[in-house]
Amino acid sequence: MSEIQTDVLIVGASLAGAAAAKRTVDAGFRTITIEKKELPRHKICSGILSPRGYRFLRENFGDPPDAAFHEPKWVTGVNFLFPNGLQLPMPFIPGPTPHIYRKFADHHVIKESRTEVHEHVEFRDIETSARDVVVRARRVGSGEAIVYRAKYVIAADGPRSEVVAKLYPAFRDSIYWFVVGQKYYNADLDLDPQWFHFTINSTLGYYTWSHLENGCHIVGYTDEHGEPWPKGHAKAVEYFEQHHGLRIREEVFKEGCLENFGMSLTNNFVFGERRVLVTGQAAGFLNMMAEGMSCALHSGAIAGESIVESFTRNGDANALYDDLIQSERKRTVDQWNPLKILFDNPHEADLKAAIAKFPMTDRIYMVREMLAYVRQFRGYHWVAPILSASAKRLFLGRY
Ligand SMILES: Cc1cc2nc3c(=O)[nH]c(=O)nc-3n(C[C@H](O)[C@H](O)[C@H](O)COP(=O)(O)OP(=O)(O)OC[C@H]3O[C@@H](n4cnc5c(N)ncnc54)[C@H](O)[C@@H]3O)c2cc1C
Repeated sequence: MSEIQTDVLIVGASLAGAAAAKRTVDAGFRTITIEKKELPRHKICSGILSPRGYRFLRENFGDPPDAAFHEPKWVTGVNFLFPNGLQLPMPFIPGPTPHIYRKFADHHVIKESRTEVHEHVEFRDIETSARDVVVRARRVGSGEAIVYRAKYVIAADGPRSEVVAKLYPAFRDSIYWFVVGQKYYNADLDLDPQWFHFTINSTLGYYTWSHLENGCHIVGYTDEHGEPWPKGHAKAVEYFEQHHGLRIREEVFKEGCLENFGMSLTNNFVFGERRVLVTGQAAGFLNMMAEGMSCALHSGAIAGESIVESFTRNGDANALYDDLIQSERKRTVDQWNPLKILFDNPHEADLKAAIAKFPMTDRIYMVREMLAYVRQFRGYHWVAPILSASAKRLFLGRY
């Protein structure tokens, strides 16, 4: 069986992979991206690209084509919904941000990165050595075995990363898993269609939201793996019916997946070792409210940059990455840091200014509900986001 040799092999043709490839291809290194699906591929996502993510996307890949947007094309901000129906709208600081269609936005960035894409190729196994990395893959459909030998590998294969599972066999059992699902309805809803609505309600699971996409109202619900998702989702629908006038005519579509939501909340990341760099959501990057596109793009670019630096200066790419990635780790973790929320503004919307517009009784109610909401996350402790990476490694273990 012949081996395909390359400087960099990226697993996963998504945002993190494209951002990494952009750096290594631009620097002149042969870069191959393997992707198990056929491109353009579907990706479950609400598609609200934060202003920072949109800036990155345009600067690095140019303006996305019209096909890369959903309707409505722009989202004004995030609207928190409380158990009693109270709404706390927070506009994005630089103004409305795009509502992207992942299938075509991801395809656009992959094409613009100019990486060689081997689609229908699924990562299976990995062997590392001091000089290079061997990846065993198989062609989806025919089952043909394919072997790659790369100087570096970037794992950009998302929440259920097989690369991480192979590198750290115990890792999957060390984190909490969440079932995320959404139903699309032909319906009416008395909420502003230009906003992303997110419940702060500890009785409604971890991430419960609604927004309009191409004429359908979506109700999404998230619970820990093992909990009865349909029951929880029905409760979420009931909340929207009772408090926000949801009137369903028919269910149009539903989808769901298993996610590693919570790694950034517990400051629990995995960045790789031995010439393998883990990035994007595979590494644990996810901002508050499951906003993972901006940190996937930025962390992917840092992984690519670390490899370029190590090639040009003959350095250790993992050591460089561990160092450079701390800015992105801190940015994500700060979103959950109560001190940062109180005395700084770690989000791309001004939570404190939005709350200040309400009478004192509402403010107290909202803060109390927010605390109850955050406290439901098992494994979350308010100290976790405050600890630096090195203190965390020292006191809490390897990850
Ligand atoms: C319901 C839902 C709503 C969301 N809404 C938003 C939102 O509004 N805004 C936001 O910013 N984020 C949102 N997110 C999060 C966001 O989708 C992710 O954080 C982001 O896509 C992560 O990007 P990534 O590049 O790290 O990985 P992914 O986008 O997960 O891509 C991984 C790629 O790797 C491929 N792959 C996986 N395994 C293999 C393998 N073994 N071999 C080869 N290829 C493989 C996959 O097919 C995929 O193409 C949402 C997530 C969910 C589940």
